[in-house]
Amino acid sequence: MGKLFGTDGIRGIINKDMVPQLALKVGMAIGTFFGDNKRILIARDARNGGDMLTKAVEAGLLSTGVKVYEAGLMPTPTLQYGVKTLGYDGGVMITASHNPAEYNGIKVMGPDGVEISRQQEDEIEEIFFSEKFNSVTWKSLLNDVKREDRVIETYVSGILSHVDVNRIRGKGFKVLIDGANSVGSITTPIVARELGCKVYGINTHLDGLFTARTPEPTVESLAQTSDVAKSLKVDLGVAHDGDADRAIFIDSGGEVRWGDRSGALLSWWASTKEKGFPNRIFTAVSSSLLVEEFLKEKGIGVEYTKVGSVVIAHTLKNEGGIAGFEENGGFIFPLHQYVRDGAMTFALMLDLMANEGKSSYELFNSLPKYFTKKTKVPIKADTDINKIYNELISIYSNKGKVITIDGIKIVTDSYWFLVRKSGTEPIIRVMIESKDQNTLEQISRELTSVLGS
Ligand code: MG
Repeated sequence: MGKLFGTDGIRGIINKDMVPQLALKVGMAIGTFFGDNKRILIARDARNGGDMLTKAVEAGLLSTGVKVYEAGLMPTPTLQYGVKTLGYDGGVMITASHNPAEYNGIKVMGPDGVEISRQQEDEIEEIFFSEKFNSVTWKSLLNDVKREDRVIETYVSGILSHVDVNRIRGKGFKVLIDGANSVGSITTPIVARELGCKVYGINTHLDGLFTARTPEPTVESLAQTSDVAKSLKVDLGVAHDGDADRAIFIDSGGEVRWGDRSGALLSWWASTKEKGFPNRIFTAVSSSLLVEEFLKEKGIGVEYTKVGSVVIAHTLKNEGGIAGFEENGGFIFPLHQYVRDGAMTFALMLDLMANEGKSSYELFNSLPKYFTKKTKVPIKADTDINKIYNELISIYSNKGKVITIDGIKIVTDSYWFLVRKSGTEPIIRVMIESKDQNTLEQISRELTSVLGS
């Protein structure tokens, strides 16, 4: 049997792999999986081909007797919150998240708004490849696609219910929102205005070509945003990815702060709100050691998982904890929902700033300091990743601890690094941290020569 789902839904290049014929069949498989008369909410991000894929998936769903409700353009977490709170049986999101502009994809959510489990994905794959679709008779094809217009309003009020709106309003924060030229531009400015902020926007017009920057927030792709944040002297900048489940912050000093930094701060802040959850957080093995260093002091435990928000979300939901996050800016706040949510993360950061009476620069600066370097190395489809992993183990195992939860992580007294094959692109992701810049550069050179050979 072939493989349909990757780490984060079904993705492919628009009109090459991700063609309407495929989307139609996926729609039929999803509809069969949920069962006729179930109510499914569908939305999309601003990528090219989004409308084409939405309609193909909708046609597939309708053929199985499912009732389809279209929510339109919005972030993935907005759709997810809508599924959960408006009583839908499931959701479908047309998005390729942070992938390059030429990609699009399909994600499936359960009634709680959380991405379905690997097991459920296998069930959909089984239906897809065996073509055992539930096809209702013409007499039963009663349902047309209907509009669902309540989602954004419901989502925004959900976010506001978890923060001290009046206290934040009292601060009159000046913020810069980088919407990645996609759907974060629709919702995050509403949240910011409701919180009494003076709102500036960059990359907030919808552009499926992503000409201004790539849909993935990186230090490089946010260079201009950080310059603008600096010259406007904003209290906080926030940058999303293509479907706005991620939030990367730019502090009041204009510095781009990575997601494990904000994750550490917001986990601590979440611990002051959460009641009844075990006093621990879940984060991917790719997070910085500063998370443990900082949270241990606050009496909060840190548990590591494989990289991938779905793993974190399911682990957090099943085992319990006050928050979950990835260093890429995906933060899960369970009181709101068990998925990453860029606008919720943004509101929590303003809430923390207002409560502590400290600038975002001061808050981020209170964290332990590590220098970080993140790189991507392109690989061929047939590259034997285990050979690379084994070579790294043979070189570095006598220098520190080897962690193999996901990829190879080496932790020594003076540095740590993670080398891991991406689940969504043909690349190896490399992350190195050290408290000393020279050590960082030296390890970076060493790894480049190992991975380049
Ligand atoms: Mg995303």
